[in-house]
Amino acid sequence: MATMITDECINCGACEPECPNTAIYQGGVEYDWQGAKRDALSNEIFYIVPEKCTECVGFYDHEACAAVCPVDCCIPNPAIPEAEDILLARAAQIHPDKTFGPDFPSRFKGGNGAAATAGDPAAPAAAAAAPAAATAPAVTPAAKPAAATAPVAVARVGKVEKKAVAPLQRPVPRTVPYRGELPITFDEAREIVSTAAPSGGMHVVPLAVSLLQPILGALPAKTKDRLEAALGDRRVFSSAGATGMNLFVHMVAIPLLFTGFAVFALDDSFFSKTVRPWFFYGVLAAIAEAVFRLRECVLRAKPVSEAVYRGALYGPLLIPLVTPLLRKANAHTEENREAFEGYYGPTTAFDDKRERERRYGEVYTIEERPSGWLFRLELPRRIPPSGVKHELGLGDEMPDYDLTMTLEGNVFVVHGKVVDPRLRTIAATAPAFPPDFTTRIPLAERCLGFVQRCESKVVEAVLVKQSAASRLRALSDAA
Ligand code: SF4
Ligand code: SF4
Repeated sequence: MATMITDECINCGACEPECPNTAIYQGGVEYDWQGAKRDALSNEIFYIVPEKCTECVGFYDHEACAAVCPVDCCIPNPAIPEAEDILLARAAQIHPDKTFGPDFPSRFKGGNGAAATAGDPAAPAAAAAAPAAATAPAVTPAAKPAAATAPVAVARVGKVEKKAVAPLQRPVPRTVPYRGELPITFDEAREIVSTAAPSGGMHVVPLAVSLLQPILGALPAKTKDRLEAALGDRRVFSSAGATGMNLFVHMVAIPLLFTGFAVFALDDSFFSKTVRPWFFYGVLAAIAEAVFRLRECVLRAKPVSEAVYRGALYGPLLIPLVTPLLRKANAHTEENREAFEGYYGPTTAFDDKRERERRYGEVYTIEERPSGWLFRLELPRRIPPSGVKHELGLGDEMPDYDLTMTLEGNVFVVHGKVVDPRLRTIAATAPAFPPDFTTRIPLAERCLGFVQRCESKVVEAVLVKQSAASRLRALSDAA
């Protein structure tokens, strides 16, 4: 039977170039038949001219249009049952210059034809009609079947199976470590690089910051967060710890200040009846300040991790004290960002641009820690749009890249490549899709090695500085 297109067609046009008989036309476009133009069989959706359709007999072992249709709306037309020899005769008529040998491809020879016939209520009629039809002349356009003249909604019968698409090839899992990869876990490496190397005692600056925490806790919340990141060691300075110490100091200092003010203003003794209540007022003021600064935790019972560690009124005056340390912190993190011109806000264009940069290995951050670096690189998530992708029946999800990481002197190098040959074919035709990328990260000093992991399209690496050698040794000794 001829193939037909149901009204589920979404007009994607994928089927049209697949037809070996040019039997498929866009809705509203006249079709050619026997040297003349004929009116379109549908004005809304793509349509198949039954007189030209051979169900691909003579060319493929399946219906080529059905194999590419994304919504499975190319189906056998139950109103036009036709046997294989009829269809082959039609193919010979349409292609007089072509010879069809005894081994001509046909869906009737494979599982498709059998499956289609089995589920088709018109099959017995088709079988019965076949001998007669073999001798009958081909159907003429004048006798257009009613079912083909307009978009139709029909029950699915004899659904054509799509050609199976082989899954995308993924990289072979590594059995040997990369050159320079350290035999410790990712978390162990991150712990090592996040703390400064011991050098016979604390350095002067961290020690001073640590001792000044009760005062520095008065700094504004953002400044404290940046300072914590700059020092990279919560034992030296932590936003939460410093704020707590500062509030504790205020619990003592504010009542004493209030009392001192009363002594001075009322010109009375420290323990007199008129001055004593001022100590109490001071305690109340200190409590009110603590509640105000930690209001998320105290009033809304939020967990400590979500608290904002606000500073004291005089906190901004302390910022110049820590500015040199903050400058250093700013130099610690480098982010390789694509140009943002024209891409402000969460627009699709911005997403596309970021995805494009990922294909070049250019979306990464490198963050310096006291004893190393934390590196994070985003890998592409989607196969870029391409006609070839559609033809090959590939989905959208990009498979994992085959990665190689190495240290070349002071440079950390990440090389990624797509392994599936079909993806490499797409890369050859699609714009901005290199099949390989190499990202080179120059480091300020040599590293002992690195530890890496790749999860959810993100590569992370911890690069350990030479200053952490003793801790690394201690870790391997303990193991
Ligand atoms: S089944 Fe084959 S011959 Fe018929 S319309 Fe589809 S692609 Fe063309
Ligand atoms: S491939 Fe399917 S949906 Fe696309 S135009 Fe052809 S029949 Fe319509």
